[in-house]
Amino acid sequence: MESLKKNAILRVVSLLGGVAALVFLMPSGLCLENFTLVPAAHAAGGIVKSPTGEAPDRYVYYPGTEALAKDEIRLIACGTGLPAARRSQAATCFLAELGNGDKFLFDIGTGSMVNVAALMIPYDFLDKVFLTHLHTDHWGDLSTLWAGGWTAGRTGPLKIWGPSGATPEMGTKYAVDHFLKAYNWDAQTRNFFLSPKPGEISVIEFDYKAVNAVVYQENGATIRSLPAIHAGDGPVSFILEYAGLKVVIGGDTFPNQWYIKYATGADVAIHECFLPPSELVQYYGQSPQQALGVGTAIHTSPQAFGKVMSTIKPRHAIAYHFFNEEVTRYGVYDGVRQIYDGPLSLAADNMVWNITKDKIVERMVISPDEAWAVAGPNRPPKPPARGSMPDPMTDFIKKGRWNVDDAQGPMIEKFKKEHGMK
Ligand SMILES: [Zn+2]
Ligand SMILES: [Zn+2]
Repeated sequence: MESLKKNAILRVVSLLGGVAALVFLMPSGLCLENFTLVPAAHAAGGIVKSPTGEAPDRYVYYPGTEALAKDEIRLIACGTGLPAARRSQAATCFLAELGNGDKFLFDIGTGSMVNVAALMIPYDFLDKVFLTHLHTDHWGDLSTLWAGGWTAGRTGPLKIWGPSGATPEMGTKYAVDHFLKAYNWDAQTRNFFLSPKPGEISVIEFDYKAVNAVVYQENGATIRSLPAIHAGDGPVSFILEYAGLKVVIGGDTFPNQWYIKYATGADVAIHECFLPPSELVQYYGQSPQQALGVGTAIHTSPQAFGKVMSTIKPRHAIAYHFFNEEVTRYGVYDGVRQIYDGPLSLAADNMVWNITKDKIVERMVISPDEAWAVAGPNRPPKPPARGSMPDPMTDFIKKGRWNVDDAQGPMIEKFKKEHGMK
């Protein structure tokens, strides 16, 4: 594969019955789609020289097996779909991993934590979340990160950066305060057995109207915010700058002047790209009026996405926010290609991009369905001393216990002995 890496960007555009359809995007922006262009020796990775040796480079990323270079960003699509649930595609979530060790979650849409968890990253490293806006398909899985991470090894609070709204109750701080109120029973019952610290959430709410304003700056990484135009006041897009690289994470938006101005020349530009209205009618059951409104007035149509990208000319463009499958992807692709002929990914869940000054490589993540949480370097804080927290269970409930000592007693004794417990 090394010879191909120099001047071509590899894309896996679809997995058709397990066979990767490969497209090479030449630096000129000319897109040559033709299976015959793929040298046979490279179709499944590098040349296999021995029946007992390694098969080099299979165009996949196995989580936790590759060190990041200091000046590299790994970007993983953990959710790319729509609010309606679907097993093969969670709602919006992009994880950016930086060569300095920072990891940022941009949105955490419904269902996306399944893909995040399968990366087997210790939860302590997943404590920074940047929300583009407060539609559930962009933060609906916060509960999973919050409580799941709490039980599975996160040692400190979550930190959430998100926009203000036109009024206080339309902002991120209000949303998270009331999220914690809604999950009060969850928190109170866990607080009794676990340290309450990892159950805390700190919110950094910033002005949604601020243009290209710094909302985070540490350790060589800068994150800026831009206003977006979507459904109501509040939504934003983010710009991540690190090691001379610029990755723009576009939130839901109609094409807007701020994105055009500040995403110009980005290394990677992510922008939403909705299904064409015809497909919203055909597959999503929407009325023509609704489809036109949703698909072309509060979101970005494929043609409009094409115009955005042909104007800002990123090194690589990423389209997301549509159900990406056989019956839809060609309509999206054709719409984009009417206007834009540069490097392009039609995002699907578990697509990964390695980004450096020299190259941008797209592959797929191969991760287990049955991943467990992986311990990080820090030990979880001790649970509170008995009696220091209100017991969430009354004597009425406790007295209803049925005696199973004879059944589980020997197992418990054995366990205690093995672990030196009294
Ligand atoms: Zn939205
Ligand atoms: Zn959305």
